[in-house]
Amino acid sequence: MDSTMDAALGRWALELAGRGWPVLPLRPGAKFPDWHRGDRCPGTGQCRGGHRTPEQIATTDPDLITAAWSRAPWNVGVFPGPAGLLIIDCDPAKPGPDELDGWTALQVLAEQRGGPLPDTFTVTTPRGGRHLYYRAPAGCALRSTQGHLAAAVDTRGWGGYAVAPGSVRADGAYELLDDTDPVELPGWLVQANVEHCVTAGSGRGDRAVAVPGAFAATAVRGECGKVAATPYKQGRNKALSRAAYALGQLVGADVLAEDVARTELRAAVDSWGDVASIAKDYAVIETSLRAGRHNPRRITPHSTRTAGTRRHSAASPRKDTVAWTNG
Ligand SMILES: [Zn+2]
Repeated sequence: MDSTMDAALGRWALELAGRGWPVLPLRPGAKFPDWHRGDRCPGTGQCRGGHRTPEQIATTDPDLITAAWSRAPWNVGVFPGPAGLLIIDCDPAKPGPDELDGWTALQVLAEQRGGPLPDTFTVTTPRGGRHLYYRAPAGCALRSTQGHLAAAVDTRGWGGYAVAPGSVRADGAYELLDDTDPVELPGWLVQANVEHCVTAGSGRGDRAVAVPGAFAATAVRGECGKVAATPYKQGRNKALSRAAYALGQLVGADVLAEDVARTELRAAVDSWGDVASIAKDYAVIETSLRAGRHNPRRITPHSTRTAGTRRHSAASPRKDTVAWTNG
């Protein structure tokens, strides 16, 4: 690939990061992060203190991005979880007489549910699929799902990533179809995703979604962001119990639903990718949430007003992330 291509990909990476969406290099011409799996972790560099996932090292830092894309024509991976997005991935139709393509299936589903499917930031994929970028509701940790909404429709939330516009493969390019700023994920799609996540987690699939107010949502994002960013063996337990306690105090003050706090905290723990300690970590969440609830935070009108919301406040650039490549 020539240098023009490098520059174009780098510009896309910077453009997306400028929107507050963390990015990571994907192998040139491919869709896989230029990063090792947890079971092949060398324990060096960024993983000195324990393995870090692509989601954890994705960044919005323009200096890191410029340096990385000047080394190779990386494709661009975008990480919806920390970006505050949910990306709906509509695949082309699978082989079979009655199979719908994902985009058609999603439109059918919207009609059945009587829900809107508003225009939003949309990317087309080399084989004719499309990625719809929506803003995730604040305080709602939506995970990735596979074929849950419909056979050819996946979602990419926490724990997932998408190949961003500008990226190229041998069979074609990922192109921006609609540059509308991402709009809020329609309520019926929030519900459809949460049904899935909550069912998988706790068996309470029919619970309504409680979307917290702006003040609580900002607190949830801040606390869970800190937890997710805490490196292995560097006080994760303490960071987790402190965050769960703080959110428990908001639950006690009736400004945050306990389910939402628990889901977000668990998602932050999940992002560590430390399967061995997950049961212990979930137990820490329960203990600390309960303790915080018993000492409710006093919320003044002033504090709720000034906390406010900023759309993409979740993804604060992490200056401690350094070079991405393994070499
Ligand atoms: Zn590692």
